[in-house]
Amino acid sequence: MKLQTLKPRLKVASPGRALPVASAQVAQRLRGSAGVADRIKIRTRDCGLCQMCKRPGYLVDHIKPLCEGGTNEDSNKQLLCAPCHDVKSAREAAARAAGESVR
Ligand SMILES: [Zn+2]
Repeated sequence: MKLQTLKPRLKVASPGRALPVASAQVAQRLRGSAGVADRIKIRTRDCGLCQMCKRPGYLVDHIKPLCEGGTNEDSNKQLLCAPCHDVKSAREAAARAAGESVR
């Protein structure tokens, strides 16, 4: 009797669909009281002003997103207002969809 080779059931994921940075290398977002203290620090440093339009802002943004290899260092954080944060997020999402990094 001739043995037959079984077909593999799992398909190999295409490399083009992989995230830009392996998940093990992505910095974790600060959560809980550490996150609160960190946000207060960044708001104080940036004088409560959006760093894009200089109007009052309250959102702490990662200048280079964590999923693209950005860090949790203060130098990678900025205060933004909601409209500017939306614009930046949309631009980053569009760039990711096009398969390129914003910065
Ligand atoms: Zn703004």
